[in-house]
Amino acid sequence: MSDRKRTENFREHLGNVSEKGKRIWLYPKIIKGDLYKYRTWVSWVLLTFLFAGPFIKIQGRPFLLLNFVDREFVIFGTPFWPQDFFILAVALLTFILFIVLFTVIFGRVWCGWACPQTIFMEMVFRKIESWIEGNANKQRKLDDMPWNWEKVKKKGLKHIIFYLISFLIANIFLAYIIGSEALIEIITEPVSEHIVGFTSILVFSFVFYMVFAKLRELVCIMICPYGRLQGVMLDRNSIVVAYDNIRGEPRGKIRKNQDQSDKGDCIDCGLCVDVCPTGIDIRNGTQLECVNCTICIDACDSVMDKIKKPRGLIRFDSVENIENGIGFRWTTRIKAYIAVLVLLIGVFVAILATRSEFKAVLLRTPGTTPVVDQQGFVSNSYTMELVNKTYDDIRYNIKILNFDGANLIIPDNNGLLKGGKVEKKVLMIRIPHDMINSNRTTLEIEIERPDIGDTEVFETVFLSPLKRKE
Ligand code: SF4
Ligand code: SF4
Repeated sequence: MSDRKRTENFREHLGNVSEKGKRIWLYPKIIKGDLYKYRTWVSWVLLTFLFAGPFIKIQGRPFLLLNFVDREFVIFGTPFWPQDFFILAVALLTFILFIVLFTVIFGRVWCGWACPQTIFMEMVFRKIESWIEGNANKQRKLDDMPWNWEKVKKKGLKHIIFYLISFLIANIFLAYIIGSEALIEIITEPVSEHIVGFTSILVFSFVFYMVFAKLRELVCIMICPYGRLQGVMLDRNSIVVAYDNIRGEPRGKIRKNQDQSDKGDCIDCGLCVDVCPTGIDIRNGTQLECVNCTICIDACDSVMDKIKKPRGLIRFDSVENIENGIGFRWTTRIKAYIAVLVLLIGVFVAILATRSEFKAVLLRTPGTTPVVDQQGFVSNSYTMELVNKTYDDIRYNIKILNFDGANLIIPDNNGLLKGGKVEKKVLMIRIPHDMINSNRTTLEIEIERPDIGDTEVFETVFLSPLKRKE
């Protein structure tokens, strides 16, 4: 079935699936227009950042580490521990809300311009494929021809390079999880010492290879949950890659010596369909498969240039604007959504800025009662949890502020909490029974960090039986 025929029954099946339910392998043409050029630059910046990410250090710490195994996360050089779970939860919620709001306003720009799947597919793997196998027509011919030396050579070379790049991506992916040092250990030390790590790299490599060599657009159309949610996030006011049907219709081919005045600007050349990496015809309206890669805009602009018509028959715009014949406007809705986005980011930054690096929690030890010993002292037991959220060691002193005769006993305490550690300490407070005149005495306990001059004061209750009058 030809591409053109496919567009006529687009509602019955996906652009890359035949009427019989078989996958149609896509051979999208590459058009190097203005937007493609900008996308290439954006991709290089993002790829550089992605590959350099695990090796960038801020004061000796990773720039980004997402160690789900040991529940250790470093974001922009700031470590987060399991105790910061609520911050990560807020971050995740903010991120999801951001994506939803952003999509409602600007459509699926993320997919076409920033998603690693699209960047690798279109800017790395697709380019290598066309470098080895030639343009879309040559690729189609190569696939159709029987196996011969040329086909073996080209396919073999392509798949070897695809696997090597997938292997590289798998290494980087793993470095984000376990850290660059651990990855270098896996690479440089004998395989037998890192069976799990090495197997993970091979498994990830195979998955990435399958994604880019075989699955391709299926990831965006069928697998990615974000892609599948487009139907509920977009509406008539969302800015998307859209065809101006008012201007373009009725479409029709240019024929020599024929009056074209009753025709729209679309000359039905089909180039916008031929370049689409998800195999759709954007002239049928916004579709779930569209990843906003904008290459159809470049394609159509190049056609408009040739036939001397204004660019923008396919452009970034909302259905509402197109139908009302108005250009892009900063509507109240867009401004309100942007205000919410800014607010969300502000809240998150405020949470980050006020996050403490050192946390202490003091509780009476559950299930214990005051003990009166033979020397005439009353003892209460407490549990203190100290959390060091930095990578540096923290020195601290603990003292009781408001009761002169009280003794604080902390077994095995050296007043030093190692970087990234959580310690639980049992504290014993002893007070001469004679000095107590209430069965509930409020004590103020201060934790001081002498290196930075920071203090924190906790209030706790000291229980005691009242002394019998003799
Ligand atoms: S319709 Fe256009 S923007 Fe959407 S995926 Fe196809 S080529 Fe990309
Ligand atoms: S590239 Fe432009 S002119 Fe050609 S079919 Fe698509 S919309 Fe029509």
